[in-house]
Amino acid sequence: MYDLLLINACVITVNKAHDVFDKGYVAVKGDHIAAVGPMAELGGQLPNAKRCVDLSGHAVLPGLVDGHGHAGHCLTKTLGEHLSGNETDFWTIMAEDVYYRSSDEEFWYAEGALAAAERVKFGTTTAVSMVGSTPRIDWIAPVGANLAGSSSVGIRQFSGIGTANAPWPKMARYYNKDGSFTEREVDPNEALANTEASLKAYTGKFPLATPIVAPGNMGRRKGMDPETSIIHNRRMYELSREYNVPLHTHAYGGDVQFLWDHTPEVLGPWLSLTHSTGYSEEELDILAKTGTYVFHGPTTNAHWYGHCPVMKMLDKGINLAVITDGTAPDRSFDLWRDMKNVQIIQRYEYRTRNLLPCGKVLELVTIEPAKALGIDHLVGSLEVGKKADIIAVDVMQPHLAPFGVMPVQRLVYHAMGQDVDWTIVNGKVVMEDRRLMLTDEKALLRRAGEAFETMMKRLNRPELIDNPRLYDIRQGQAK
Ligand SMILES: [Zn+2]
Repeated sequence: MYDLLLINACVITVNKAHDVFDKGYVAVKGDHIAAVGPMAELGGQLPNAKRCVDLSGHAVLPGLVDGHGHAGHCLTKTLGEHLSGNETDFWTIMAEDVYYRSSDEEFWYAEGALAAAERVKFGTTTAVSMVGSTPRIDWIAPVGANLAGSSSVGIRQFSGIGTANAPWPKMARYYNKDGSFTEREVDPNEALANTEASLKAYTGKFPLATPIVAPGNMGRRKGMDPETSIIHNRRMYELSREYNVPLHTHAYGGDVQFLWDHTPEVLGPWLSLTHSTGYSEEELDILAKTGTYVFHGPTTNAHWYGHCPVMKMLDKGINLAVITDGTAPDRSFDLWRDMKNVQIIQRYEYRTRNLLPCGKVLELVTIEPAKALGIDHLVGSLEVGKKADIIAVDVMQPHLAPFGVMPVQRLVYHAMGQDVDWTIVNGKVVMEDRRLMLTDEKALLRRAGEAFETMMKRLNRPELIDNPRLYDIRQGQAK
């Protein structure tokens, strides 16, 4: 007897054979997929199931896998966007003010729940978050609070810290209940002990949420001498291998070469590098031969100022996935947007309209990031034996109708995150008819709003929300 039987949907498996069943079914037993196929193979006789859902008018797909975002960003999105201009430093300093000096455990919990709710409601079932903009390394509570907040929504979550980026020194504040705080200076080397401490404290603590190793940057680290950079790079790698968790970081031109020259063992399919702009030809060859993953965010700041040669990387056989980098200052956790964004940007760049076909793009947000996280035997496609991470898209809507022919293209070109109607993670329904099932959504939103208010009071920087040039063509204001 199955626990859950989904019938009469257009089932897009994203398996190796690219099977699509125009009228298909998926059967779930416990936490895994027990059967998947065309309705015809059931011979008009529905198997026994505790719950059977008729998903006529829906497309059923594997849950999306978002390989990169930032814990904290859902409560800083939009803030200071007008201050960035060409000088990203303004925003970086603001983020440090928020994450190191204006946040408490409640902030990280409430934001973790909010981010997970946004992702689940857009059909993301596996999510990666770096805790902070560059990670907060002076205490591990933000990692624990983020994992707990994410878990309350039911998402499969990977969140981590690791070596943090310059500037140094950083001051960190710790708030008391009465609003007073203590303050101390943070040493960059605290990252080494605290990354391990977070792995020790939180591994196995949550059924679907796992601490990982996620340094702010790997390679040639700004504001750190080369010898210390090498020690940090090596230690981050060792910890990820010791605890058998993904190693995930930002990296840019020169970083891959630096890793290759000093710690080549770090490079491999266990490592994912976002946003990967500015690499040399040699670095692209190193990525291709080591199997290291590139996570490309089409709408990231890095991609405005630098260049991630997506088509060239794919031609060279470099492993690649598309990520959101949600959600601050100007992004969304909606991977459906980024499926379209990556196509638009590549097609514009090459002035060719049929680059990156929709099937390939769908793989770049499902099975490819699952491989990078070492969980492609569990998620990323609808196949018997895999974990039941499944989404259903309501296709009976004007912008998707008439639905039937070319279903993959219809979804990738025309669907949006809000079209996802059902989200199932590990066999459990976490969203049904767009209602979150494990948590009270209104309470979650209220709690996030209160955490935001508290943070803004502590921050006390009105210029972050006050943009006097909002209607000018060039809004960037220098200071
Ligand atoms: Zn990022």
